[in-house]
Amino acid sequence: MKSDIKALIRPNILALSPYSTARDEYKGKIGVFLDANESPFENGYNRYPDPRQLTLKKRLSEIKRLPIENMFIGNGSDEAIDLMFRIFCIPGEDNAIAIAPSYGMYEVSAAINDVEMRKVLLNRDFSLPTDALLKAADSNSKLLFICSPNNPTGNSFEVDEILTLVKKFDGIVVVDEAYIDFSNKESLTGKLSDYPNLVVLQTMSKAWGMAGLRCGLAFASKEIIDYMNMVKYPYNINLSTIEKVTKLLDEPLDEHVNTIKVERENMSRRLKDFEFVKEVYPSDSNFILFKSDDGDALYNYLIGREIIVRNRSRVALCENCLRLTIGTPEENKRVIEALENYK
Ligand code: PMP
Repeated sequence: MKSDIKALIRPNILALSPYSTARDEYKGKIGVFLDANESPFENGYNRYPDPRQLTLKKRLSEIKRLPIENMFIGNGSDEAIDLMFRIFCIPGEDNAIAIAPSYGMYEVSAAINDVEMRKVLLNRDFSLPTDALLKAADSNSKLLFICSPNNPTGNSFEVDEILTLVKKFDGIVVVDEAYIDFSNKESLTGKLSDYPNLVVLQTMSKAWGMAGLRCGLAFASKEIIDYMNMVKYPYNINLSTIEKVTKLLDEPLDEHVNTIKVERENMSRRLKDFEFVKEVYPSDSNFILFKSDDGDALYNYLIGREIIVRNRSRVALCENCLRLTIGTPEENKRVIEALENYK
């Protein structure tokens, strides 16, 4: 573990003087705003939003029980993923490591930033290949991505195993917890104060039901969060999103999450009954990965029934596998009925 985070930051970012918004510069009581070249005519959206999203962060800080200084809000967690590369990886020189199969944006963001991505296959049972991940690292390895619960396999990894990686890897370990609310495992956010090289990603897009608003979260040491705030676009979260997310956070989460969990177990049981289903993998997420005798054929059949799932047939370790998101009880019933009429 490197506790000297500064040593991992790209020199151009260390030297950056960030853009300072009109509203950053003066913090006193204001009667007339003539500093930002906005329109003075009120329509609810004529003013720039708060670049630090303080009201939303205050609310999230209560829910997540974490200080505001350890929290970054992004335009989806995809923004936080991209920022990791921009802050830590020198293009054409540094590399990142990720488990595979996993969420596709780690690799895409690496490619966009001209950073080599070293993918390390999970073990056959989808467990964490801890030694192989550490072996893949060299002195230019700046980032290690672990997604838990993992997309598309659905399983989560043991907290202790992830922490072993955080301790032994000499760079930043990014743990993507996009699906954590569907899991019984504990979030790593509770460990942040012990590990300065740990970044935990979460999102409003899954359990919270706000994918359309684009709001992702990153939790890390104040030092890392400060760099993320320096590098992000000044107004990365729009006013409409700030307002709507703040409002929707008052809606209780448990009922929907519990429904998804119950439906996931039902769906898993039903899938196992079909002869053409060869394996149903255990899931801690809001989706199930299952293997059929012919992934493409089943995928095309479901499209013909106007049901779209994710075909993962050509992904390593997922041959003939489809990833099925858990829908409403009615939608799930429709899937089962379609499968009953297959073949
Ligand atoms: N992480 C994982 C593991 C995901 O599966 C997804 C989206 N499918 C994301 C992050 C992106 O989330 P967001 O909508 O917050 O960008």
